[in-house]
Amino acid sequence: MKINTNTIKNRALKILTQLQKDYPDPKPALNYTNALQCLVATILSAQCTDVRVNMVTPALFEKYMNADDFAEADQTELEEMIRSTGFFRSKAKNIIGAAKAIVDDFGGNVPDTMEKLVTLDGVGRKTANCILGNVYKQPAVMVDTHVKRLTWRMGLTDNTDPDKIEMDIRNLFSDNQWMPVSHALIYHGRNVCKARKPACNKCNVNSLCPKRDVK
Ligand code: SF4
Repeated sequence: MKINTNTIKNRALKILTQLQKDYPDPKPALNYTNALQCLVATILSAQCTDVRVNMVTPALFEKYMNADDFAEADQTELEEMIRSTGFFRSKAKNIIGAAKAIVDDFGGNVPDTMEKLVTLDGVGRKTANCILGNVYKQPAVMVDTHVKRLTWRMGLTDNTDPDKIEMDIRNLFSDNQWMPVSHALIYHGRNVCKARKPACNKCNVNSLCPKRDVK
C-alpha cells in the first residue's frame, strides 16, 4: 500500500490527540538519572525487557558512577553484572568503548548532538534519540519495536527500516510532537496494540486505524 503523506497528516494528528488523552503522563520505562545512565540502560535494553534492565542497573550505577568508572571497568566483571540482559559480552564491550570515548573525546560528558552520539560504540540513532529527547529535552523521535509495529499497522509509514520510519514521523508531526508521539505509541504498544494480539475492540483509535496486517 502506497501512502500519501498529505492524506494521513490529519489522521495522524487525531491519533496523537486521542493517545495523549489515553496516556496523559508518559514516562520512560528505563530507570536512570543522567545522560550516561540513560546511555548504558539503553544499550542494555537491546533484545531485553525494560523490567530486566531496571533490575540490573541499580547495582551497576552504584559501582560505576561516572564515565571514568565505566572506561576503567574490568570487562569480565562488567559482563557478570549485566549477564542476565543477554548479549552481555558485546554490551560490556560497547559500554566500555563508549565510556572511553566520552572521557577521551568529550571531557567526560555524554555529547548532546546526534552527530557526536552516533560515534560512540553501541550507539545508533535509536539510543541517541532516547538521550536527546529524554535527557537533553531536544526534539527527537524514538523508534523502538512498538513504534515500528504501530506506525505500520496504523498506516503512518510505508517503511520497516527504523531510520526511515523516524523520518516519516518527523514529516508527519511538528518537532514539539516528536517525543509525545513516540511516548504515546510506546505506551499504546505495551497496553493495547500488542505484538501478538492487538486489542482492537478496546482501542480508542480503532476508527482511525486501517489495522494493516492485523489478522
Ligand atoms: S485498532 Fe488495532 S491495530 Fe489499530 S492501533 Fe488499535 S489495537 Fe492497534
